[in-house]
Amino acid sequence: MAKILAVLYDDPVSGYPTTYSRDLIPTISSYPDGQTAPSPRQIDFIPGQLLGSVTGELGLRSFLEGAGHTLTVTSDKDGPESVFERELLDADVVISQPFWPAYLTAERIAKARNLKLVITAGIGSDHVDLEAAIARGLTVAEVTYSNSISVAEHVVMMILALVRNYIPSYGYVLRGGWNIADCVERSYDLEGMAVGTVGAGRIGLAVLRRLRGFDVELHYTDRHRLPIDVERAHGLTFHSTTAEMVPNCDVVTINAPLHPETENLFDDALISTMRRGAYIVNTARAKICNRDAIVRALESGQIAGYAGDVWFPQPPPKNHPWRTMPHHAMTPHISGSSLSAQARYSAGTREILECWFDDRPIRDEYLIVNSGQLAGAGAHAYSAGDSTSGSEEATEFER
Ligand code: NDP
Repeated sequence: MAKILAVLYDDPVSGYPTTYSRDLIPTISSYPDGQTAPSPRQIDFIPGQLLGSVTGELGLRSFLEGAGHTLTVTSDKDGPESVFERELLDADVVISQPFWPAYLTAERIAKARNLKLVITAGIGSDHVDLEAAIARGLTVAEVTYSNSISVAEHVVMMILALVRNYIPSYGYVLRGGWNIADCVERSYDLEGMAVGTVGAGRIGLAVLRRLRGFDVELHYTDRHRLPIDVERAHGLTFHSTTAEMVPNCDVVTINAPLHPETENLFDDALISTMRRGAYIVNTARAKICNRDAIVRALESGQIAGYAGDVWFPQPPPKNHPWRTMPHHAMTPHISGSSLSAQARYSAGTREILECWFDDRPIRDEYLIVNSGQLAGAGAHAYSAGDSTSGSEEATEFER
């Protein structure tokens, strides 16, 4: 029998919800590339309810306890005194979400003597030292595609929010104002602009498809070029590198995983080659952008706006400069954790667990690391390495 340790974000400060703003969510049974949505044998939760927080438990408790396993759930994840670090010592399976990541550094992996399976309830396993996971023979799996469209919608929202200067204008309404000139002095139309994505995988391509209707020029760069018929169908211009693409864009959206190739990609040097007044939207991972270079570029006017929902570490300290830099439209890490997405990645987590306990193969598209190497989706999109360094700073967040 196994010990499952789940690290989930806290319940709402007003308490776990008893009612919701909508009664139903649409049922999504397959994704744009034909991949089927998660298909566990059963689910023990109501889709559309809050599952990603401590009380929601990803809807897993009755399934796991019914099968004789134990489930420990905590939000206390950072520092040597945390519940996570204590419970990790004899856990067989660790589950966490990128929104509230349980950083699995090499040191923590070494301490976790029973650990065999690490599940990301969502997408993006950079909070795990993949090199250490490979060396230790762990299986790392995530619920590929479960929230890709959720993020793509957030990206489109953030591009429009920046270009049209939505959030400062909303602020004038809240403060009782009617400051038209103040609102519009930084407001433009997206129409006719050039938008480029770094990474044209599930999210990047979904963003491009959604933006087509805005009559913009569409650019992309990726390690693998898309089929020519896809490029033609969406009117895409391919660039072989990020450096080649960004000087051609008014808006750059980042939709590639964090791995050694992409860490610190947007530094002072790259940003200086962008069009003055370009916008960056990064919902991929914070470390793809150099934290202080972004602040400098906003302060100097080299970029006109920065938005995204990913920070490093998570949660970020209260004095993280991205909270107060000018012309930003940041949210906490929420784009992939809508109630709609939670239903899918909770079902996907259960599917992975069912496969694991039945000794059935986990879908290839869910695998990141398996049998001592990058596997499945991980072999396609990642390179081996460690992106967790600095995660100990998360202890500085004061609740
Ligand atoms: P995909 O794997 O479908 O797409 C990622 C794409 O990035 C792939 O096409 C990959 O190339 C490409 N890529 C990898 N390295 C580079 C590079 N050096 N330069 C250019 N392109 C590169 O993943 P998703 O689209 O589903 O997700 C992308 C990322 O978004 C995730 O890894 C995660 O970090 C983040 N994410 C954020 C969420 C949020 O809530 N904010 C939720 C979900 C994901 P190829 O595979 O062709 O080699």
